[in-house]
Amino acid sequence: MAEHTPVMQQYTRIKQQNPDCILFFRLGDFYEMFNEDARTASEMLDLTLTTRDRGVVNEEDRTPMCGVPYHSAEAYIARLIERGMKVAICEQVEDPATAKGLVKREVVRIITPGTVLESSLLDEGRNNFLASVYLDADSAGICVADVSTGEVYTTQILEADRVQGLLCEFGRFAPREAVLSGGAAGDERVTAFLRERLRCLVQAGEESSFGKAESERLVLAQFKAASLEALGLGDKQAAVRAVGGLLSYLRETAKSELTLMATLHVYEQSRFMELDFTARRNLELTETLHGGEKKGSLLWVLDQTGSSMGSRLIRSWLEKPLTGPPDIMRRQHAVAELFGNTMLRGELRGILKALPDMERLMSRIVYGTSNARDMRGLAAACRRAPGVLEWLKSLKSAAFVELSAAIDPLQDISARLEAAIVEAPPFSIREGGFIKDGYDGEIDRLRAVVSDARSVVAQMEAQTKADTGIKTLKVGYNKVFGYYFEVSKSYLHQVPEHFIRKQTLAGCERYITQELKDMETQILMAGDKLVALESALYEQLRQWLTENAHRLQQTAQALAKTDVLCALAEAAARNNYCMPVVDYFDKIDIVDGRHPVVERMLTDSLFVPNDTHMSSEAPSAIITGPNMAGKSTYMRQVALITLMAQMGSFVPAKSATIGVVDRVFTRIGASDDLTGGRSTFMVEMTEVADILRFATKRSLIILDEVGRGTSTFDGMSVARAVLEHVHTKIGAKVLFATHYHELTDLEQQLPGVKNFNIAVKKRGKDIIFLRRIVPGGADDSYGVEVARLAGLPESVIARARTILRELEAEAPVKARAAASRQGEDDQISLESLASEELRRKLLTLDANTLTPLEALNMLFALQKKARDG
Ligand code: ATP
Repeated sequence: MAEHTPVMQQYTRIKQQNPDCILFFRLGDFYEMFNEDARTASEMLDLTLTTRDRGVVNEEDRTPMCGVPYHSAEAYIARLIERGMKVAICEQVEDPATAKGLVKREVVRIITPGTVLESSLLDEGRNNFLASVYLDADSAGICVADVSTGEVYTTQILEADRVQGLLCEFGRFAPREAVLSGGAAGDERVTAFLRERLRCLVQAGEESSFGKAESERLVLAQFKAASLEALGLGDKQAAVRAVGGLLSYLRETAKSELTLMATLHVYEQSRFMELDFTARRNLELTETLHGGEKKGSLLWVLDQTGSSMGSRLIRSWLEKPLTGPPDIMRRQHAVAELFGNTMLRGELRGILKALPDMERLMSRIVYGTSNARDMRGLAAACRRAPGVLEWLKSLKSAAFVELSAAIDPLQDISARLEAAIVEAPPFSIREGGFIKDGYDGEIDRLRAVVSDARSVVAQMEAQTKADTGIKTLKVGYNKVFGYYFEVSKSYLHQVPEHFIRKQTLAGCERYITQELKDMETQILMAGDKLVALESALYEQLRQWLTENAHRLQQTAQALAKTDVLCALAEAAARNNYCMPVVDYFDKIDIVDGRHPVVERMLTDSLFVPNDTHMSSEAPSAIITGPNMAGKSTYMRQVALITLMAQMGSFVPAKSATIGVVDRVFTRIGASDDLTGGRSTFMVEMTEVADILRFATKRSLIILDEVGRGTSTFDGMSVARAVLEHVHTKIGAKVLFATHYHELTDLEQQLPGVKNFNIAVKKRGKDIIFLRRIVPGGADDSYGVEVARLAGLPESVIARARTILRELEAEAPVKARAAASRQGEDDQISLESLASEELRRKLLTLDANTLTPLEALNMLFALQKKARDG
């Protein structure tokens, strides 16, 4: 260290204090990075790696470095954050012009994926959450905050499997960064889920910051409460510790007061429907399974919001469907009121369209990373509040009455900001020029001095031209010499004595005079004063807005809520949804239900609606039918309708009654997790195991082709055993799609199991999908026919048919072999198999869709079977 230059010594010291960050070290107009940081950053950002002489002779001792200009740093920081890095911003904290010796530098902020504020680093349609997790032998606590909006949530989990409860919350909030207490950091399930599933930056927090006393102190101070009871945290020690961990981490990184985080939302997990990560993905709630796009997701259909605040909120409603009918009905009634009033809805949506993001503007203003444009944006947003308030006053439902009370017209704020800031302010606040004329007398005076001085300079140019007879004489300005006279070569002989030569260029010479310099001093002094005064006024406004943060935040949230309620009403009207009845009864009744997304995606055909009736008497439905018939679509539609109903939305159906469910589980399709070292079947079974472990009587379970990833008989046996277990031991509502037609026997054996199939019509070699769900099992999977529809060569199809016939002939023999392999003692005779098949064929026959000729053919076939055994 001793051999380093003073500035490098300063760098090394600061870097040692921030070892896990890329240090952006301000040197003049650049942020420089050195050593390992420079190597990493140059690779991630495509920057040229150079070296800095450390005052040593040896080439290999030179320090690797790279840098980015300070004014374009944001884009580079964005890319580093995107890659999960942390960036420490080290600024010069005293003016280099006046500093004695080495300029003082300090880390003013640490930017991490979970604490960014800059709009270019944030997705406006979604929250950016930072999580803090506390875990010990008896309890778990989680706190989740979005620094860019000021929201903070916390809950405590006391269940036997606390980690599962945590994973559920992770899935709900999808944090980008997590700080873990020692207990949580030591739990493999916690860290693996965060890192691998959510691609979240995970770090161990300071153990002391999760300590009981310290956490309590921080929590009470931050949320200005006299006791934990007052915050609803009296019996939630683990939650308190999680919040404490989060607050101390934020203080360390943001290095400022967390003014905007004024309200702590303490919630019970049971208030929201539990949806694990797999269910969220499979149901394509906010993005598609393949491609991860919003288009094609439920959010895409429902998000008719006009503002980014609304867009974030509707996403969070979708991520957190409710479980209490009163809460749900409150939202529903508000949606219904707007649904029935097209004119008013249109007016409100008109005002809320492209409403500036007050929450994020406020966070930038409060935390000091804003510019004058942000203030103008905030003023424009405040201007909309009175209009919304006026319209809301004519609405009657409880939610709107409450929203009207929460919205502050904020006229004092919009008026003052509009009076203070010009309409189109410059991007930077460093050069001034953003305070409106007439707002401050001193600014007006200084501006007059500057503009007078400029006209005096122009006069001086004309006068000097006339005095000297130099026709080409011009007054110019640059940073090095300030103002100068420029004289072209051909007039040099006319230059007067008192001109002082400063610079020689190819075609001209540049001079200064005392008079010119005096004028310059006047202009510069006034200019400097102006900039200083403008930034002081800006700071005053910032302080004043910070003092009013609570009013602004509360109004912003109320506007966002109004936007979401309008959006749900709009989606309902556009897509012909109905208002579901939501209650505590144990049944799901849907008449003419539709899949909200598939119906929107179909372009050349109409969506065929289907009914669903599930109750505690008939909780299990086995759905068979050909490939491509629509089994998955049907099952997802039931889950989505339930979920939409519980978020307070209308639903795609003619009518629906939904008894609230506590969790929705899905096991859909094959997904490999080869990087995680698990095969398709293993992934499938792990998911099924979770379902069996956590489902309750009030859960809704969607099982699509369980057991498909292994051999037929193994798969079938597992599938059957799973269904039996769910039906008899758990009693949850389950929709079970399968190609194992053998499972339809369960209808006879277990009361409450019902068979359904999706009707198709066979015409010659072709099949026609009717998309209608009808009672009874299907007779065939028509796999070969579907393969033909998909365009497999005719020769392959013909061969497949031959193989299928052979296999079908052999199947009973195989079944027997498998049964004896598994040590089952009930022998199956060929005869009983034949009669069993007959019975099955008869039972699964859909008389509604048979033509007379088909019926006759079927009768012949059955007779032949009975005769031949
Ligand atoms: P597989 O057994 O091969 O997985 P599946 O029976 O699950 O097939 P789906 O994937 O649900 O079939 O449906 C196939 C396609 O049929 C859907 O992509 C959709 O376009 C269409 N479809 C499904 N249900 C309906 C419906 N009710 N009305 C109109 N079209 C539908």
